[in-house]
Amino acid sequence: MVVVGGGPAGMMAASAAAKAGGRVLLLEKKAVPGRKMAIAGGGRCNFTNVAGPEIMVENVPGNGKFLYSAFRCFTGEDCRGFFKALGINSRVEDEGKVFPAGVAGEDLVAALVDYLHVLGVEIKCSSEVAGLLLGGAGCLGAVTSGGEKYYGRVIVATGGLSYPGTGSTGMGYRLAESAGHKINGFFPSGVALVCADEWIKNKQLQGMALEGVKVELLHEGRRLDNAKGDLLFTHFGVSGPAALRVSRTAAAWFSQRKDGGRNLTLVIDLFPGMDREEITGAMESAARQAAQKTLRNLLRGMVPDRLAPVIINAAGVNDGIRAAQAGKAVRRKLADTMKGLALTVTATRPIREAVVTAGGVDVKGVNPATMESKIVQGLFFAGEVLDVDGYTGGFNMHIAFSTGHLAGISAMRGRK
Ligand SMILES: Cc1cc2nc3c(=O)[nH]c(=O)nc-3n(C[C@H](O)[C@H](O)[C@H](O)COP(=O)(O)OP(=O)(O)OC[C@H]3O[C@@H](n4cnc5c(N)ncnc54)[C@H](O)[C@@H]3O)c2cc1C
Repeated sequence: MVVVGGGPAGMMAASAAAKAGGRVLLLEKKAVPGRKMAIAGGGRCNFTNVAGPEIMVENVPGNGKFLYSAFRCFTGEDCRGFFKALGINSRVEDEGKVFPAGVAGEDLVAALVDYLHVLGVEIKCSSEVAGLLLGGAGCLGAVTSGGEKYYGRVIVATGGLSYPGTGSTGMGYRLAESAGHKINGFFPSGVALVCADEWIKNKQLQGMALEGVKVELLHEGRRLDNAKGDLLFTHFGVSGPAALRVSRTAAAWFSQRKDGGRNLTLVIDLFPGMDREEITGAMESAARQAAQKTLRNLLRGMVPDRLAPVIINAAGVNDGIRAAQAGKAVRRKLADTMKGLALTVTATRPIREAVVTAGGVDVKGVNPATMESKIVQGLFFAGEVLDVDGYTGGFNMHIAFSTGHLAGISAMRGRK
């Protein structure tokens, strides 16, 4: 058995196949396997989620239903158990995210690599697969860029296009195409948003984080998506969990737009837990206590100091007035702005900066119960190379582990 790619999908596929008694060769083009896994989650590696299969599917906007079998066959708890058996305990954090307890992502990679050695998997690094050996009987093996040929069933687990420095540069798509598979167009998912507004370019705002806001992504007033979470201001626009969550919709929209390239709007609700009356009421009582405060100082207690002038300006109110002079109409305008601060989104950041690639090997050409190609026998796919992508929260890594597991055991069926 030949596994192409030493990311989480390929390593899990190799482990499942070897455990089932297979002789497995893992070919990895970089000098070490698991480079993306080691940096995932800022080095902490949110490697799975405790959500059950149905909730997992809901968190995979890119062809989630294709993954039912994989998610049922290898659940988030199975994944935790797998690593526990390798000596890595895990901890569940908010929204069911699972992290290794007390160790980093690179330790998870090291544990997996050690386990592959124990199972007898041969790992050849600095070996880039450049082609498949295809014959009448199906896929017979793979050939490297150096011309070495390796025979056996092949599992392609080469990842997508994001963070190409980790090794995922899209070679797997060419391998799949050579076997007759359709590749669906790519766009980034889990990526920052580029905004055109002048005020966002203000250096003072860069690095500012807004906690627990709600964002709505609109096109000409029509809501395309929404999310709750933290938002981070950067030199080009916004990032952080809330922006990443709606970015897939934005990227899909930009990749398909045929209307002359009009922009999207991101509306930020700074106080999703309060209505306008509560906000104006809060301003009123603050103004009563400090009537001589400037408007900016009044807002300071409610929003980050650096954002206060932006709110005042966007609300179109005179920032020279004192809190006591800010009547009902002014307070109303400020509350409206804090409930709906609008940004003009012109693009997303490129795919190379995305958490995950949307698009890839068309799932219609792959059997969801086995991960085997419906076109070429003996050829399997696992992980991000497939046209599947999930939200952040451990879902993408779990896609890799579960499809890798399923491909590994399926490729061994009838092979011992
Ligand atoms: C910065 C960042 C942080 C992330 N954090 C998280 C997180 O915390 N939780 C989460 O769930 N997801 C996270 N993700 C997403 C997750 O890491 C990926 O979805 C996952 O790694 C995909 O696994 P994979 O095995 O399919 O592909 P990859 O991890 O990309 O591995 C593919 C491997 O194949 C090798 N390869 C490629 N082509 C060839 C070839 N021709 N021959 C031989 N080898 C080849 C590559 O070198 C690479 O080692 C993050 C992504 C990024 C970029």
